Amino acid sequence: MGGQGDWLDRMERVMNPGLARVFRFMGLEAAEVEGEGVWVRDDQGHTYLDCASGYGVFAQGYRHPRIMAAARRQLERLPLSSRVLVSPPAIELAEALAEHTPGDLQYSFFCNSGAEAVEAAIKFARIATGRTVLVSASGAFHGKTMGALSVSGRALYQNPFRPLVPDIVHVPFGDAQAVADVLDERVAAVIIEPIQGEGGVVVPPEGYLRELRRLTAANGSLLIADEVQTGMGRTGKLWACEHDGVVPDLLCAAKALGGGVMPVGAVVGRPEVWRFFDSQPLIHTSTFGGNPLAMAVAREALAVTVEEHLPERAEARGAILRHGLQQLAARFPAVIRQVRGRGLMLGLELTDAGLAAALMGALFRRQVLAVYTLNNDRVIRVMPPLIIAEAEVAEALNRFEAALEEVAGLADALSRA
Ligand code: PMP
Repeated sequence: MGGQGDWLDRMERVMNPGLARVFRFMGLEAAEVEGEGVWVRDDQGHTYLDCASGYGVFAQGYRHPRIMAAARRQLERLPLSSRVLVSPPAIELAEALAEHTPGDLQYSFFCNSGAEAVEAAIKFARIATGRTVLVSASGAFHGKTMGALSVSGRALYQNPFRPLVPDIVHVPFGDAQAVADVLDERVAAVIIEPIQGEGGVVVPPEGYLRELRRLTAANGSLLIADEVQTGMGRTGKLWACEHDGVVPDLLCAAKALGGGVMPVGAVVGRPEVWRFFDSQPLIHTSTFGGNPLAMAVAREALAVTVEEHLPERAEARGAILRHGLQQLAARFPAVIRQVRGRGLMLGLELTDAGLAAALMGALFRRQVLAVYTLNNDRVIRVMPPLIIAEAEVAEALNRFEAALEEVAGLADALSRA
């Protein structure tokens, strides 16, 4: 047991054989053992510059000292809740979220993941409106539990599990008229990512979210913003819907809300939506949701995000990174089709999915962690922790350049083939 390098064999025997083979095929043989700031160290002592942030989890970097200290304090007192008495850390986080989310978003429900936050939002929308239909976007990713999967927009993950939750209508992302066309008195909510993450870092046209806000309000339907990936500063504002001055009825958060230390999910809602809890306070619950350890960590993660101006840093560093990537795109047009995104939520759309896999491998060999998006394997996300320093941005760009030089040779060969 325990020989270095046999982790993939062991994973293959007892966890997910297919996934272990994918790791091996991609050359991802290293096992992670430690993280600090924007760096991850493997069991061979190599350090990797993380440009994936665990799909957006590590906004504050790995093991942020303040967040670790908050975790230790709570761990030594009461990590999980009795579930019988009220729990101060949850109330404090809910107060902080009420203060730091847009408009009159005020009430919070806590859970343990992004998918759970989406599940809760779907149920809240149905009970609050008494309607059933949910409108969502093709290419959307909202999680893989049955409800979240049903509002997601990719057949590959959905088809083996049909029948899914009924009364779900998909429309093209970024087309407000398509939403207008399906809105009627049966529509409980429109659920949308302000920027599609797993769909391939897709930024909708200017004014899209505002128009959805107007349309849903006029129709008596709710607007659910899934900010699981865009939230907590990633796009240059604490919440991406703030770019458009939009207040959703329900806002889903997870990932970076856990500060890179604890899993946590949240749904924050406006007072009118929350009324159903008055008569049915136990209608939706979770044993671990709102546990003191996760709450204390998330409270500190939010404080760090605000006090260290991480949204502003995402904007500033994102501009530099984006500019550098655009220069590389101009140099390697046979590899990169487009650089897009907002703040430090960036994506490289490549000309071919095979090249995306090759680029991921080439980056890994240069000790950069990068990964393609789940619903679009032609797009490599570039999403480093928001705490990334300017020198680290420059380092990332150098390594991307070297990796692209390698992959460009492959692109040449493909075009000749
Ligand atoms: N919503 C969005 C926008 C996401 O990006 C994700 C995860 N990539 C989820 C929901 C699901 O989150 P989780 O994996 O924590 O269930």
